[in-house]
Order: sequence, then structure tokens, then C-alpha cells
Amino acid sequence: MTDTELLSRFEYFGKKALEYRNKVIGLLPEVNRRKLYLQRGCTSVYEYAKKVAGLSEEQASRALHVFEKFTDKPTLKRLLEEGTVSVNKLSRVVSIATVENQEMLAEKVQIMSQSAIETFVRDIRQGASEAGIVRTHKPESNLLFTQEPHLDEDVREKLVKLERKGIDINQLLREALDRREKEITQAKDRVAVSLPEHSSRYIPTRVRSILKQEYGAKCAKNGCHKPSQNIHHMRRWALDGSHDPNFMAPLCREHHQIAHAIDVRVQEMRRN
Ligand SMILES: [Zn+2]
Ligand SMILES: [Zn+2]
Repeated sequence: MTDTELLSRFEYFGKKALEYRNKVIGLLPEVNRRKLYLQRGCTSVYEYAKKVAGLSEEQASRALHVFEKFTDKPTLKRLLEEGTVSVNKLSRVVSIATVENQEMLAEKVQIMSQSAIETFVRDIRQGASEAGIVRTHKPESNLLFTQEPHLDEDVREKLVKLERKGIDINQLLREALDRREKEITQAKDRVAVSLPEHSSRYIPTRVRSILKQEYGAKCAKNGCHKPSQNIHHMRRWALDGSHDPNFMAPLCREHHQIAHAIDVRVQEMRRN
């Protein structure tokens, strides 16, 4: 067997194994409810699940727990019962699932990866809105205030000297920060007007570098400190085809997926 053949076989059966595991897990709660494991000489559903399907007790109890939480949420319950989505992913949304948001969550768990779901749930729980990337410079998280900025010795020394002279160093820094913000805004507008009307998918270097100046190397979502992985177009690129940096933001992998999951929903709402 060649390397390619071995890999493709492994991946084919691996995919099937995952699919079947989801299906078998989906049937388990009903087997449990009807106590059918007794008919097979098992004393508990866990023993039966292990014997027949090789499920660990943890997997089985997670399935039963999630099922119970979804009793009044038929849309989510169906995903578990039919094995459409893994119980691991579904268990991530249990804490925020409601009768009202079940449809929305059902859609998200089907298009987002497990790590994106985790981030999404964390954002919701932290009270971040579902509006996607909130473009505000106001800090949302108190975490920000517990971290002191690192100042080099010479900078600190100069600031102390100025303060001793009775100069308002906070005002000084505030002005410098405002100036930086204004410069970036102006530079973005200059870049925007310089862009060709019909651009290719390739994001021009000047667009990338102004975004880097604004956001640094991290995700643009407030409160997220992960490195940015993708530059996201907040207006659908396919609709206006422009790389206007005013409507772009570097995002981490998870927030990028979340932004697109929201995008899909907006598209669907428009269509309906
Ligand atoms: Zn994107
Ligand atoms: Zn992020």
C-alpha cells in the first residue's frame, strides 16, 4: 500500500467511524428511557453502551445529560438524536441554549468548529453582543485594567520628570493616543480612495499594513487576545469587491468563523 493509499483509507474509515459514533450516541438516550439494555442482560445503560459500541461512561453520560437538557428544545434535540452533530459540540451550547435561541444555535453548531463554538459561547456568556465585531475602542473587559502597560526605564523617567514640573502627563498621553487614532483613520481613508474600482481577491500590502498598525498582531474582537489569522471583510467582499480598510478587521480563527456564521444568517434572513 502506498502512503497516499494508506492515508486515504485511514481518513475514509476515520470519517465513517465518527459519523457512526454520533449516530450510536444519538440512539442511546431512547434506549435508556425504555430500559432496553435489560433485554441484553446489562444492568446499566453504561455497561450496554460500552459493550456494544465501545463508548466510555463519560461519553454515554454526556449524551444522556445533553439529551435531558434539550427535552424542551426539539431543534437541538434532533441534531443529537440523528447524529448530525457530535455530542461534544452540542454539550458546549447547553449552558446558553433556550427555547428561543435553539434555532440559531442549531445553525451555528452545524457550520462552526468546536473551538469556534467554545469562543462563541464564552463571548455570549461574557455579555458580548451577537453583533459580531464591535468596532469601538472602549475596553469592554475589566481584565484590561488589571494589566499595567510596560514602560521602559527612560520613558518612565521622562514622565516622572514632566509630572514633577506640574505637567499633566495623562493629558499628554491622551493627546498622543488621539493623534495616533486620527492618523490611522486618515491613512485608511487615503488607502481607500487609492484602491482600484475592481480589485482582485488579493489584499494589497498597504491595506494589510494599515490594519496591522491599527490592530497590532492580535484579533480585533474586544477582549480577545489571540493572534489574528485572517483579515475579515465586514461587508461581504462578493457584494462590493473592495478592500476598503474601514470595513476590514484581522480576526483569530475562531472569531473569523463566528463572523462568517453570523454572515450566513444575515444572508438567509434577507432571502426570506
Ligand atoms: Zn472573512
Ligand atoms: Zn478572536
